[in-house]
Amino acid sequence: MSHHPSPNRKTPDLVSVTTINRDGSRFFLHPADVRGPFTAARRWFALLLLAVYILLPWIPVNGHPAVFFNVAEGRYHVMGLTFITQDLWLLFFLISGLGFSLFFITSLFGRLWCGWACPYTVFLEHVFRRIERLTDGDAAARRALAAAPFTAGKAARRIVKHSLYLLCAAGIAHLFLAYFISLPTLYEYMHQGPLAHWKSFVLVFGLTGALYFSFAWFREQFCIILCPYGRIQSALTDDDTTIIGYDSGRGEPRGRKGTAGAGDCIDCRRCVQVCPTGIDIRNGLQLECIGCAACIDACDEIMVKVDRPRGLVRYDSLNGLEGRRRRILRPRIVLYSVLLAAGLAALTLSLGRLSPVHAVVNRMAGMPFYVHEGEVRNQYKLQLVNKRNTGVDFTVEFPNLPDGARYSISGDALRVPPQDEAEIPFTVTIGHRDFDGPFDLEVLVRAGDGGRQLYRSIRFLGPDPRFFQVDPEPDQEEEAP
Ligand code: SF4
Ligand code: SF4
Repeated sequence: MSHHPSPNRKTPDLVSVTTINRDGSRFFLHPADVRGPFTAARRWFALLLLAVYILLPWIPVNGHPAVFFNVAEGRYHVMGLTFITQDLWLLFFLISGLGFSLFFITSLFGRLWCGWACPYTVFLEHVFRRIERLTDGDAAARRALAAAPFTAGKAARRIVKHSLYLLCAAGIAHLFLAYFISLPTLYEYMHQGPLAHWKSFVLVFGLTGALYFSFAWFREQFCIILCPYGRIQSALTDDDTTIIGYDSGRGEPRGRKGTAGAGDCIDCRRCVQVCPTGIDIRNGLQLECIGCAACIDACDEIMVKVDRPRGLVRYDSLNGLEGRRRRILRPRIVLYSVLLAAGLAALTLSLGRLSPVHAVVNRMAGMPFYVHEGEVRNQYKLQLVNKRNTGVDFTVEFPNLPDGARYSISGDALRVPPQDEAEIPFTVTIGHRDFDGPFDLEVLVRAGDGGRQLYRSIRFLGPDPRFFQVDPEPDQEEEAP
């Protein structure tokens, strides 16, 4: 993590990557501290997001953690709602809804997500960079420490810093696992040692390593080089999108305060020093800009000092910065709004129709049907899922069972405990005189008294009825041709 001397370093421009030196080596950025209303608001918002991430597995809602993706048992609990694997088609609405929301927000406000809410930015800026600030000091001190020879003091600082990094990375990774196995199970796993649950251990170990690598070393390069969202932003924004920009009409030509004919930019480079991706916002909208607003606070502070109006760098559209009229309602906004509204309506409707109970009828493995003593028998299994927090008594009926047919099931009232499921085998037998060939057997499952009715249907199979024109041998069970 060495700091390279300036001859190897280019001034941020539009054609080179700010984190790469002239010789191709990594330029390790040390963004300067910044104070101001946007920075403060961003910090509070990040604290809120971190609190949400940390607390969700601890807060019980309806007897389960507020968010608990119990993959092992196929139960997914989100804010008191329980979904089972069969409900996962709803993910389509969730994922497409998130996509359209992101399109919508980006076309209105640019990369608001990146600077304010992206977990990568939140962890990097508000956890790992805070640790670095604590152990190594401000940007100048960090730069000096990076360039200093490796002494015992430097080693001690590095050990403390990287231990704290590892601790945080491990904490984030363990919490991540808790979303899938719950905190009590996580605690149990941790006591049983890595070999008892090696898959979980490998996941947490790998995630800790990836987080440590990302936040200790790779840092802003993820946003600049890897993140696909940064790449597509130019397709989602236009000249009316709110971005963070520099008012070149007001700022140029740059010059010291008092210089005749100079604009408002005094070329102090504070906006560059605070930028976490090392760019110069005065070069215009760039792919590297994550919309963190640090340069707004930095420049406003300077503007106040030199007694000029704030907002030389500000939230505005490209049209606004150029002094042109700005349109909020554009075709793309209308289109994204319509798509978003349609998706939300579909999701609300689907959630409203989501059943707290679930029934599936399947054929038992083995023969499709049996013929025995002039009767045709089909064997099925009924899977009942109860997503409620109380037990449910299910009853089963067969509305279109032919006269003379009979069924056998392990009890008319089938009790399924709360948040549980049961698999019940049953058979349907029809005498050959009542059997006119294969048909769709209707199964009506009722959940509780006057509860939800679930209609299922499954094929009743048997031989060609002509088969019975020859009497079958008594006591001989055979599969039909
Ligand atoms: S240019 Fe400004 S808003 Fe963009 S990343 Fe740099 S400091 Fe943040
Ligand atoms: S902080 Fe403001 S005044 Fe200073 S260089 Fe940047 S734009 Fe110019």
